[in-house]
Amino acid sequence: MASRVIALDGPAGSGKSTTARVVAEKLGFGHIDSGALYRALTLAALDANLPDQADRIVGLARTLPVRLALTGVGYRPEVAGVDVSAAIRETRVTERVSAVAALPPVREWVNAELRGAAAEHPAGVVIDGRDIGTVVFPEATVKIFLTASGEERARRRSREVELDASEAGVRRVRAELDRRDTADSTRAVAPLSAAPDAIVLDGTSLSFLEQVDAVVRLARKTIGSHA
Ligand code: C5P
Repeated sequence: MASRVIALDGPAGSGKSTTARVVAEKLGFGHIDSGALYRALTLAALDANLPDQADRIVGLARTLPVRLALTGVGYRPEVAGVDVSAAIRETRVTERVSAVAALPPVREWVNAELRGAAAEHPAGVVIDGRDIGTVVFPEATVKIFLTASGEERARRRSREVELDASEAGVRRVRAELDRRDTADSTRAVAPLSAAPDAIVLDGTSLSFLEQVDAVVRLARKTIGSHA
């Protein structure tokens, strides 16, 4: 594994990915968005008309291939060499991704990819997801579980993706986040949960920059004591 791994887990809309990206920049680390790999795989499966067939999805992922390509601070999701950063945010992918991510062979394939991608980075990585501290990197240098109230997460996500911060817009986004969190928390394999040794950070009343600073402080404190 990379010399340092900062695991940032939490529910949908907690701002994990945007926080992880800025934290990685500040630390000189790479940022891996593990959800982007599940999404890229889901996009490929939908396009190939195979959304429920675990072994064929994994075969497809290997041959296309689906991958995270290291580019500067980030890892870009690619399908057959094409950048799919925008396509993986489409509603059809969001609606389907939790079901694809619940398939054990899919998770095994993703975990191996994440470990390989992290090993490529010379300094270290910040990885955000649902099971990074519990399953993918149980030996992570720092584990943070980032959460926020359902209402606040829905507001943030509405501002981020829909530009529709009306009450109805926020309600719609919240229903979608709740549906995904329930699916992700109740699945049999690697459900969304805080590792016993994770630091739980509630960002409900923090601004984005305060949230970033809190994670950077926790990371520096632990990295410093491991140096
Ligand atoms: O992070 P994001 O919301 O984009 O993740 C999309 C989906 O991928 C999640 O709802 C979850 O089903 C799945 N996922 C996962 N484990 C991870 C990261 C994401 O199951 N480590």
